[in-house]
Amino acid sequence: MQIPGHIDPVTTGTVPLRGGNRIDLVGLSRDAIGGVLVEAGLDAKAAKLRAKQIWHWMYHRGVTDFEAMTDIAKAMRPWLTDRFIIGRPTVREAQVSSDGTRKWLLAAADGQEYEMVFIPDADRGTLCVSSQVGCTLNCRFCHTGTMRLVRNLGAGEIVGQVMLARDELGEWPKGTMAGFGPDPEDDDEEDGGHYTADGRILTNIVMMGMGEPLYNFDEVKGALKIVMDGDGLALSRRRITLSTSGVVPMMARAGEEIGVNLAVSLHAVSKEIRDEIVPLNRKYGIDELLKACADYPGAGNSRRITFEYVMLKDKNDSDDDARELVRLIREYGLHAKVNLIPFNPWPGAIYECSSPERVKAFSNLIFKAGISAPIRTPRGRDIMAACGQLKSAATKPTRAELDRIAEEKQAALG
Ligand code: SAH
Ligand code: SF4
Repeated sequence: MQIPGHIDPVTTGTVPLRGGNRIDLVGLSRDAIGGVLVEAGLDAKAAKLRAKQIWHWMYHRGVTDFEAMTDIAKAMRPWLTDRFIIGRPTVREAQVSSDGTRKWLLAAADGQEYEMVFIPDADRGTLCVSSQVGCTLNCRFCHTGTMRLVRNLGAGEIVGQVMLARDELGEWPKGTMAGFGPDPEDDDEEDGGHYTADGRILTNIVMMGMGEPLYNFDEVKGALKIVMDGDGLALSRRRITLSTSGVVPMMARAGEEIGVNLAVSLHAVSKEIRDEIVPLNRKYGIDELLKACADYPGAGNSRRITFEYVMLKDKNDSDDDARELVRLIREYGLHAKVNLIPFNPWPGAIYECSSPERVKAFSNLIFKAGISAPIRTPRGRDIMAACGQLKSAATKPTRAELDRIAEEKQAALG
């Protein structure tokens, strides 16, 4: 699989099949499900109807067994079971923090591992989703940055995280689909009570797990389209945030074709410091990046861009840095907020987190300029819930290896 366009530092492996010779339907668009049903022998009209029914069961009800699809003719269900599956990632490890944060280490069909994190709050529940196994980029404060990219995740593996989270949180609607209509071809439809859509636990999604989502654009787009589909998982695009380290050439497309909220990992306000901590800056500099933010479709109207800013002691946390951040946001006329993230340390990291007083002072300076700059409370520290930490607990490269990986990644970026 080639990462698209002129921004392609590497080629990545293809997504493996989970169902052996059966096709996994998770991640396929509604039309694509119809397509595989036609290939399996249904006529176009029947395929369209079945695709609609299966879609609803899969994405709205969380069903993984065709036998549970009670509005599909009984005789047809084994036919589907023989040919298709509705897969889930395998859970390798599940952890719950004392603050309620949950973290799962997942395995794909080829054994590749990636992770997702669920963060419950009083008024929302946010799932942090991965887009790649590892990352081609090498932000120096990020643990995922120390891993080689193994491959992109497929749309099914990305949307599969959301579905698995719903399984684990027990929040699929219960009952039957009153109002969905009977199957016109079926005379043995079962009736099993009323359908209820429960109150939601998982309300928000952030593409802030492992990987750079804009280096895996097509699969991320396919997955998020499914997540936003009104007859499925039905999350509003206003509740989904895509975070990028600054892949400038893909930002406008993300706004136009996916249309979710944008978060940009800015982390520094000078070329010197951003080149060091977010080395992609050597390719797409701060001015270019902020211009792309100003041009982001919808920016300036209702949609605010979020700048993520990790607080690193004596690196990017001075009063002057805060003032420069305010100046830049004004210069580019950005309707923005700043999320201040206390650095989450990991074994071998070369940075320290700024003191709480420094973070507070930094935040105050930005607030005083009329720009919101909340300090993110670290969550799930006892289970190492920050980006890339669970997976790599198993593999601890030496300092020399880390430097070599960083050099290789930098060379690949060109
Ligand atoms: N690749 C994308 C999305 C994944 S990283 C991006 O870089 O934006 C999600 C966020 O977590 C980024 O803002 C990243 O900078 C931040 N992050 C990574 N490691 C961190 C750490 N150790 N402590 C605090 N924030 C971290
Ligand atoms: Fe990759 Fe984001 Fe980590 Fe940078 S911060 S190495 S882009 S996952």
